[in-house]
Amino acid sequence: MSAVEIHCDVAIVGSGPGGYVAALRCAQAGLDTVIIDRGPWGGTCLNVGCIPSKAIIHAAERFAGAANADELSHLGIAGSTPTIDFAATSAWKDGIVARLTGGVDQLLRSAGATQLRGTATIVDGKTIQVDTAEGITTVVTRNLVIATGSEPVEIPHLPFGGFGGAVLSSTTVLALTELPRTLVVVGAGYIGLELGTAFRKLGVQVTVVEMADSILPHYDRVLTAPVSKRLAAIGMTVLLDTTASGYDHAARQLTVTAADGASSAIEADRVLVTVGRRPLSTGFGIDSLELTMNGSAIAIDDRCRTSMTGVFAIGDVTGEPMLAHRATAQGELVAEVLAGTLRRWDKQVIPEVCFTDPEIVSVGYSPDQAEADGIDTVVGTFQFAANGRAMSLDRTDGLARVVARSDNHLVLGVQVVGAAVSELAAGLALAIEMGATLEDLTETVHPHPTLSEAIAEAALQAAGHPLHGPKARSIRRPIPD
Ligand code: FAD
Repeated sequence: MSAVEIHCDVAIVGSGPGGYVAALRCAQAGLDTVIIDRGPWGGTCLNVGCIPSKAIIHAAERFAGAANADELSHLGIAGSTPTIDFAATSAWKDGIVARLTGGVDQLLRSAGATQLRGTATIVDGKTIQVDTAEGITTVVTRNLVIATGSEPVEIPHLPFGGFGGAVLSSTTVLALTELPRTLVVVGAGYIGLELGTAFRKLGVQVTVVEMADSILPHYDRVLTAPVSKRLAAIGMTVLLDTTASGYDHAARQLTVTAADGASSAIEADRVLVTVGRRPLSTGFGIDSLELTMNGSAIAIDDRCRTSMTGVFAIGDVTGEPMLAHRATAQGELVAEVLAGTLRRWDKQVIPEVCFTDPEIVSVGYSPDQAEADGIDTVVGTFQFAANGRAMSLDRTDGLARVVARSDNHLVLGVQVVGAAVSELAAGLALAIEMGATLEDLTETVHPHPTLSEAIAEAALQAAGHPLHGPKARSIRRPIPD
């Protein structure tokens, strides 16, 4: 028996956007709440994920804009070449992280949640031992919430930190204070492309190696084509159907193998491996619980309950989509369930945003997904090439696409690819959550000149009344019962 023992209503392991929000809401509801994390408050998202990556992306964008004045000559802009002090960039990014994680600490404190810093080992569904700097604290709880998040997947022959630290994960690449001359990104998912693009814009020679036959394999070609074009335009090399087979540290070369078996070597001072993330659902005693699993994720129901009474799970540890805002929504939900409400997970959509260049927003069904589910749809698209705001931003690449049921025009999905379209995501999710039809979109007055007008134009096309563009495509299939 340890010296310190705490009794509580709810203990939450993990303080990412899932865990800390659950703790806040539980404490606000008057539950005796303990939150445990071995790292700084805020989890992956605030410390080594969403926030620092977007800060570096922004700095890179500003630097590239200033550095490539020759590309702005058609706007009448010319200027001298700027330099980058990446240690200062990194310090600016760290300042943002510190402000946000300090804010989480403060919020938890003022809500009255007990904060324990240390590694948690789950003894059973009611008991957790926490290895704190002051010794072991035992937490005895009525309810346990597992919010341990996820971890980056390693490639066995390219271990993180291997080859004298040359092999980087998304965590360690964000901790760099010096820019490498050459960087190879293995894996063209959103994390690899976001970070690779940023480093390219900071002047690094970047090659992306992807074993699939397209970048962002999760998205269809209509959405990825503008991104591919831009990657080429900024001088990034993308090798598709190619695997990373080995690294020669002395020569600073990564060997890659193409689909036809041909091998070649690419210069790589550093190798960033971004081949996916896996739920952190093993170790720390989690395995000793009688939990039903869904692959490597903890299976949950629509109230975030696991197969064990009194044990809940939220966020990345429960599997895809591994996104911060899903974790947060689950955190709020689980707190309400623990506080005694009858809330259930009833979201229609979880918006997805790629902060690539251009950005991609996807909310709800794509045409392919609707077709696969046998839903008869109408689809409208509108190119930013015909949008006044896109022209005035000097970024006419990309498009908006609206997918709706053909029988009643219920909007099932909207995808947008374009510069700075991420801010459109919430409004699109709202439309679908509220059951908007194409007519709701088209009859809403969209402000001019904005990128959002492309969505209204795409909806008009889908409804068969294009205003400024060609006729919409219509897919006719029987609607399932
Ligand atoms: P996490 O944020 O992973 O937090 C889990 C916490 O649990 C950690 O702090 C960890 O220390 C703690 N923990 C684990 N085990 C123990 C233990 N045994 N004892 C004590 N503490 C423990 N998502 C988006 O929605 N938008 C983005 O733009 C985005 N960008 C990303 C960029 C990068 C580079 C990365 C890596 C991820 C990004 N994500 C993004 C994903 C997002 O970060 C995750 O979906 C989100 O953080 C998941 O939240 P969570 O609460 O489930 O877990």
